[in-house]
Amino acid sequence: METLHKSTTEASLTAVPTEILNYIGGGLKPAQTGKWISNFHPASGRIYGQIAESGSEDVQSAYDAASAAFPAWSNSTAKYRSDLMLRLADLMERDLEVLAFIESYDNGKPLSVARTVDIPRAISNIRFFATAILHGSTEAHDMDGIALNYTLRQPIGVVACISPWNLPLYLFTWKIAPALAAGNTVLAKPSEITPASAFHFSKLCIEAGFPAGVLNVLHGTGPSIGAPLVSHPGIKAVSFTGGTQTGATIASIAAPQFKKLSLELGGKNATLVFADCAFEETVSETARAAFSNQGQICLCGSRILVQRSIYDRFKEAFVAKVKLLKVGDPQDAQSNIGAIVSEPHLLKVLSYVELAKSEGGKLLCGGNRIQVEGLENGYYMEPAVFEGLDPYCRTNQEEIFGPVVTLIPFDTEEEALQFANCTPYGLASSVWTSNLGTSQRVAAKLQTGIVWINCWMLRDLRTPFGGVKQSGVGREGGWEALRFFTEAKNVCIKH
Ligand code: NAD
Repeated sequence: METLHKSTTEASLTAVPTEILNYIGGGLKPAQTGKWISNFHPASGRIYGQIAESGSEDVQSAYDAASAAFPAWSNSTAKYRSDLMLRLADLMERDLEVLAFIESYDNGKPLSVARTVDIPRAISNIRFFATAILHGSTEAHDMDGIALNYTLRQPIGVVACISPWNLPLYLFTWKIAPALAAGNTVLAKPSEITPASAFHFSKLCIEAGFPAGVLNVLHGTGPSIGAPLVSHPGIKAVSFTGGTQTGATIASIAAPQFKKLSLELGGKNATLVFADCAFEETVSETARAAFSNQGQICLCGSRILVQRSIYDRFKEAFVAKVKLLKVGDPQDAQSNIGAIVSEPHLLKVLSYVELAKSEGGKLLCGGNRIQVEGLENGYYMEPAVFEGLDPYCRTNQEEIFGPVVTLIPFDTEEEALQFANCTPYGLASSVWTSNLGTSQRVAAKLQTGIVWINCWMLRDLRTPFGGVKQSGVGREGGWEALRFFTEAKNVCIKH
């Protein structure tokens, strides 16, 4: 185990879990396989702990616990589930600093981001769905005096929630909160790259008094545990957020078993900057959209399309802004960009910098791996900005999921839409203009599930969230998520 580096406080460090256990049947347990995998500290590149590498026997134990818990949980009142979830949210709020520290430590993201974005949003996710179920209603259809139909929305059973490493607790809670609130029991699998916050969360569930088996958290890799989870015949629905390729694999297993499936997948999002935008605000917000969380947000705007009449001015201001971003120790309050999540991912992102060069791109700034003093083996790189690349080249078509963006000039609204829509992905886009007509015309024609006008990642949890094309199937958020985690049953009463 490493000696942890100096800038961390003793109190927060003791909270960082060095042994990540499963939460099954109300207790914390090592994997039945007896296997462990290493947990890395991206800021220093050192191994700081070990993670239970579970297998199909652990899936079966968790399934048995969830199945036993289902009758009581699904028949409990909405008020009971709501109160319990609100108690859990209060405990998360109490531990906000600890959770933020753990998230930053495990993921490499700036502590300031974990403290102001990830953990507050994770708490909001729990509170949102805990209260949403108190306000639900279902439809009734009267058949002209012949009969009355009403719709029951009933929990599905035991469901699986699988989440990625980029916003670990944020996306983990975004799935389990509606699943639990709707009355399902859950087998959840956080990413093996960032399992620590979900482990602390498991302890808070115990403290909050969650009944055994209602939520089970399993740790391990995609092959060791994700695949057995998806293929388990008792799992009735799978909610997955992660890469498009993994989503395709999961769909190929789940579809023949007729499981309900929600897939939130990759993105290659376009930022459309029109000449009449509010220039200064657009420059700083598009830089934020490009490089937040080291560019590792599925919503990051990595292709910045700029109207030609302001292209040179925008390029100069944007590159100047990016050069001011400080890459450094995630726990340093001055760091805007922390460490990339893992060494393999850093190498993948750096390989795209080389690809962009080989495709004829001109590197305007950044793109190098760098060393941070005292953390020489950490996974750091300078944010990179390219220009001169064809919209149809691989750099502009494939998801990089790191701090690499391209600038692309366009002449007309039609051309902007053509470039924006020319990738296989369709998650999100943002449009920067002061013309209401332009914004509405373009929003209607963008092939994405989400369009932000003069903003980015401004989220209202009631709104539908998800992508089109290879960015996913289905929607999360608000009633969409509660609908996914319930079966609609039509009851018809003849008068
Ligand atoms: P990933 O697909 O490698 O892994 C996601 C999760 O799936 C992890 O928990 C992983 O262990 C598990 N997994 C891997 N193989 C599996 C299998 N065969 N069966 C079941 N589970 C399996 O993705 P990642 O690298 O963790 O995350 C990055 C990707 O997630 C990016 O493509 C990003 O765009 C996407 N993402 C999408 C959204 C969205 O809302 N659309 C949000 C965040 C991230």
